[in-house]
Amino acid sequence: MSIVVAKFGGTSVADYEAMNRCADIVLTNADTRVVVVSASSGVTNLLVELTQECVDEDRRQQLLKSIASIQYKILDELGQPHDVAARLDAILSKIACLSESLSQNRSKATIDELLAQGEQCSSVLFAAVLREKGERASAFDVRQVMRTDSHFGRAEPQIEAVKQLCAEHLLPLLSEQCIVTQGFIGADEQGATTTLGRGGSDYSAALLAEALDASAVEIWTDVPGIFTTDPRLAPNARPIQEISFNEAAEMATFGAKVLHPATILPAVRHKIQVFVGSSKAPELGGTWIRHQVSDEPIYRAVAVRRDQTLLNLHSLQMLHAQGFLAETFATLARHKISVDLITTSEVNVSLTLDKTGSDSAGNSLLSEALLQELSQHCRVRVEEGLALVAIVGNKIATTAGVCRRVFKVLEPHNVRMICQGASPHNLCVLVAESEAAQVVSALHQNLFEG
Ligand code: ADP
Ligand code: ASP
Ligand code: MG
Repeated sequence: MSIVVAKFGGTSVADYEAMNRCADIVLTNADTRVVVVSASSGVTNLLVELTQECVDEDRRQQLLKSIASIQYKILDELGQPHDVAARLDAILSKIACLSESLSQNRSKATIDELLAQGEQCSSVLFAAVLREKGERASAFDVRQVMRTDSHFGRAEPQIEAVKQLCAEHLLPLLSEQCIVTQGFIGADEQGATTTLGRGGSDYSAALLAEALDASAVEIWTDVPGIFTTDPRLAPNARPIQEISFNEAAEMATFGAKVLHPATILPAVRHKIQVFVGSSKAPELGGTWIRHQVSDEPIYRAVAVRRDQTLLNLHSLQMLHAQGFLAETFATLARHKISVDLITTSEVNVSLTLDKTGSDSAGNSLLSEALLQELSQHCRVRVEEGLALVAIVGNKIATTAGVCRRVFKVLEPHNVRMICQGASPHNLCVLVAESEAAQVVSALHQNLFEG
């Protein structure tokens, strides 16, 4: 059986009409046996707000009402089938209970349990929309198969366990029906609900595709493919028809929100091609991400990642000494921080961290405890309000003239840090966040609109 896994993001399952369009996409391909859904647009943000310590009772009630109204509207348009109404009621009651219990016990496990309910709602509703169209479909609790570690808010999937659990519990169902399941969430060995971090549904889809040995993953979103830059930033950005795994991974890592940064990993491991398209306009086609592509241009796209933190570490111990970096990286690793960009001089190291390092509830990983630990062996300076702009392409580090062209465009801006050379696929600059939009637009104009 050839299996396609199709993932629909928040705007694609925002309401009944959107869900109907997505159901039609599913029905056009008989191989689409697994559907992964995000929470309906806005729901995860409302759930995140519910987990915040400062939410008072009035606001809590307002938030519960807003979530219920998004989901009940879809149920109403479905004609309120009894079984679906009962399941939705149960999920919404659970949201209310969990949010109340957070005032007594703010455990990370309870926060994840609460955040997971958005995807529970949308999967139950989407399966009902498919059934309304005559398809045999049911909602499947992904926690039966998406085994992760217990790092709540940013759990790591356990690939071998996921594969085995999928073979046992999911694969046998696919010959008889289309399975609708949740992105973003999983469960640890004890069965506690975990989440994979914001935007994690793309990753879920790719992980399931890998575990099921699928032939393709489709990421259906609100844009007809991956563009040369975020179309919200540059009106002349254009869709890319075909892009390599390497380039797509760089784009996702450097902030092209259209793909979660980890999505490409399972696809690369298993050489599964990934399609990105618009559920609003499937006829426009989209981007295919493949192992091998026919064209590998020097300049492929410009990506931007906002909200960057720069850590500057200064220590005279570094002078002609060994082990300082090893110690620093060990400290960061203990705090589960992966370093992004790094530049060094004789007595200074600058590193960037970013919000992709934050958890599902948006908490920064740059904790007081970490800063204190670092301060024990160096002076730490933290700079915020920065954005990382990445030029993604091929042979960037080995092509003469790239820097001249890029830095000419950057002339009016202060570049706080530059990273080039480690990867043939990118050149990154750190600039003030307030200038990021201008920098992206100017680079796009010069590199793609000439
Ligand atoms: P979903 O809810 O479907 O997961 P997201 O909002 O996470 O959708 O991702 C889609 C958005 O990603 C687009 O609306 C677009 O603004 C943004 N985006 C950023 N960079 C790019 C890019 N290079 N190409 C296409 N979209 C991009
Ligand atoms: N619903 C989650 C979020 O908003 C996961 C996702 O949409 O991918 O982050
Ligand atoms: Mg997304």
